[in-house]
Amino acid sequence: MAVMAWFKKERRTRTSQRERLEIPPDAWGKCEVCGHVDIRERFERSLLVCPECGHHQRFTAEQYLELLADPGSWRELFGNLRSADRLDFEHYAGRLEKAYEKAGTSDAVYTGAAKIDGMPVHLAVMNFAFMGGSMGSVVGEKIARLARRSAEKRVPLIIVSTSGGARMQEGVLSLMQMAKTSTMLARLHALAIPYISILTNPTTGGVSASFAMQGDVILAEPGAVIGFAGPRVIKQTIGQDLPEGFQTAEFLLEHGQIDDVVPRGSLRDTSARLLRHMQRVQYREDIADAV
Ligand SMILES: [Zn+2]
Repeated sequence: MAVMAWFKKERRTRTSQRERLEIPPDAWGKCEVCGHVDIRERFERSLLVCPECGHHQRFTAEQYLELLADPGSWRELFGNLRSADRLDFEHYAGRLEKAYEKAGTSDAVYTGAAKIDGMPVHLAVMNFAFMGGSMGSVVGEKIARLARRSAEKRVPLIIVSTSGGARMQEGVLSLMQMAKTSTMLARLHALAIPYISILTNPTTGGVSASFAMQGDVILAEPGAVIGFAGPRVIKQTIGQDLPEGFQTAEFLLEHGQIDDVVPRGSLRDTSARLLRHMQRVQYREDIADAV
């Protein structure tokens, strides 16, 4: 019996060895475009940009704040505004409650003061995690107030947009935000205070039809979908096939609708350089008084 024992496969405690070798599944990241698999840390180090194909994965609003603002310089403003269910829209109150729980109490946009490369700025970053970055009264009001504060304090404005469009649960009140924000931005323009608009994936609907496209400079991340209506609706309306790459940042750049496509890793430096350049513009008192 003792000899037989030699040929018997020694029973290893397999599970324990496997446990030792296996890397926890959440340590890996995968690019949804090219399928490239890499350790998550590498994706994170590259700001969630695929090291292989350059695809920009979704970055949270909080990550953009960290990326753009100088460390410790961010101070939130108007964070106390809360959406109201004015139209008694079905399920809206409940959805709001859930969104506040899940995505924080800043609604679908963070607004505040910060510094970029030492320069004071007002910064708004839309939060897609909050009801798809939809623009209701609170989003419009926060953007408008921030723009007004920019005018009063003569501080440049930067807005990072991502949005599915107007918030349907607030009906026409959401649509009115387009006019309200546009008016405030017109005032900034007249005062020659720089406004940089940064478009991220996706920027659509009422946001693309108002403040997102009104920047003195409009930058977009590579591959970002930017447009007003969805391609299906447009195709049905005009009865024509749409060109390839339609509604991407690159397509819009080629057709003169935006100023540049800037990879995430260069957004901060590009914004800082633009601000430095634009702030040499003279204050036009004659125009400012007319508004
Ligand atoms: Zn990739």
